[in-house]
Amino acid sequence: ISESTPFFKALETFKTQQWQAAPLVDGKILAGSEQAVVSPYDTTQQVGTVVHANDAAIEQALTSASAAFSDWCRTPVEQRAAALQKLADLLEEHRDELIALCTREAGKSLQDGIDEVREAVDFCRYYAINAKKMMAKPELLQGPTGELNELFLQGRGVFVCISPWNFPLAIFLGQITAALATGNTVIAKPAEQTCLIGYRAVQLAHEAGIPSNVLQYLPGAGSVGAKLTSDERIGGVCFTGSTGTAKAINRALANREGAIIPLIAETGGQNAMVVDSTSQPEQVVNDVVASSFTSAGQRCSALRVLYLQEDIAERTLDILKGAMNELTIGHPGELKTDVGPVIDATAKANLTGHIEHIKQVGKLLKQVELPANCANGHFVAPTAVEINSIKVLEKEQFGPILHVVRYQAEDLPKVIDEINSTGYGLTLGIHSRNEGQALAVADKVNVGNVYINRNQIGAVVGVQPFGGQGLSGTGPKAGGPHYLQRFVTEKTRTNNI
Ligand code: GLU
Repeated sequence: ISESTPFFKALETFKTQQWQAAPLVDGKILAGSEQAVVSPYDTTQQVGTVVHANDAAIEQALTSASAAFSDWCRTPVEQRAAALQKLADLLEEHRDELIALCTREAGKSLQDGIDEVREAVDFCRYYAINAKKMMAKPELLQGPTGELNELFLQGRGVFVCISPWNFPLAIFLGQITAALATGNTVIAKPAEQTCLIGYRAVQLAHEAGIPSNVLQYLPGAGSVGAKLTSDERIGGVCFTGSTGTAKAINRALANREGAIIPLIAETGGQNAMVVDSTSQPEQVVNDVVASSFTSAGQRCSALRVLYLQEDIAERTLDILKGAMNELTIGHPGELKTDVGPVIDATAKANLTGHIEHIKQVGKLLKQVELPANCANGHFVAPTAVEINSIKVLEKEQFGPILHVVRYQAEDLPKVIDEINSTGYGLTLGIHSRNEGQALAVADKVNVGNVYINRNQIGAVVGVQPFGGQGLSGTGPKAGGPHYLQRFVTEKTRTNNI
């Protein structure tokens, strides 16, 4: 991309735009007290205002979404899928505005914004196609002569979709479109930090033909999600966020009145990359930098712990330090920027605190200097620290911090055990030119997504279905062939007429 292209000219027009978000319930915009939304890269810059949902809005959304279910689940799947295809078209049409919003509200880099819209479009189209394949006709079952046995799939009810700020459009819409395609009505609760993007997405979904009572929007803090997930009228929950919150939702679902309903949770990781001495250090460093520092390390999939075989450690770390020097930190809307801000002041304080702590436990390898133009934003310097083992890390650090562990060839089984001992199981990177060894490591580490000789982020819908195991989530994988199954209930009909 060059800065003289029509794309950049289009982005220019959104540089000062202000957006609004509010609860969208039963097609009505609910008024309330407006809070300012500021940009993570410069907190003196306002992006718009948001009205949070109150208890009355939550109640109204639950009533309206429950009432809408009966018609929506009987709407032919072809019609539901057509609305999602139309939504994909509208996302493409409004691509520039959505990219600008990703940059300004979520602090995403331009490339991340472009990828985000692409992924959101992919989710709409993929689930539209898969829902049709799965639900257009009942499955004919074998039975005695003269008896017709059929298996039908249908929506479960009101799905509560609770999404994260790190993919404010793609995961937000991925959850919603999966639930809608399969005939559920939806109450969408975006992350508190990215309500403006969610609001635009819901407006576009309504414009695409999703009835306004079928998709309700409740911006707000975590308490909105907590109220929704303890209500007996809901039929399922789709959640992406921390493992702790997923467990709290699971408890709320168990303790409430009403049916036993599914929770689809995609949570955190303590992702490792294992690099053996047959690897090419230059390629390793490219992939390490991409895996650790893209999106300022704010991806569930991001690399947190690099295991380097001793024989190539020194050379690889030299190249890594040089590559980190080349990173451009700054305004996410500029083409040259590699690493933008983290999401908010709390994230910055936690990450900075961890860097100070881990520098005492291990050895600082490299900390990039923050340029002066980062002073008004929530920036954290990309940092690499050498430690003894993944075990010294108490929890996932959701930012641009890479931990490095050296290992001896004979200790590879121990490395595998250590990685498994975290209990997380999301992504794993492997670098090796010894295929047998690479495949053996891939087999023994309990994770959802393995990447050999490449970076370990940026799963593509339908190509690398995304999601982990253990503390990293329940499955099924988003963007995969089994995802929609969890959103439906099954009914057989035996007919002897
Ligand atoms: N699917 C994204 C990736 O592969 C990560 C999703 C997340 O951070 O929740 O990078």
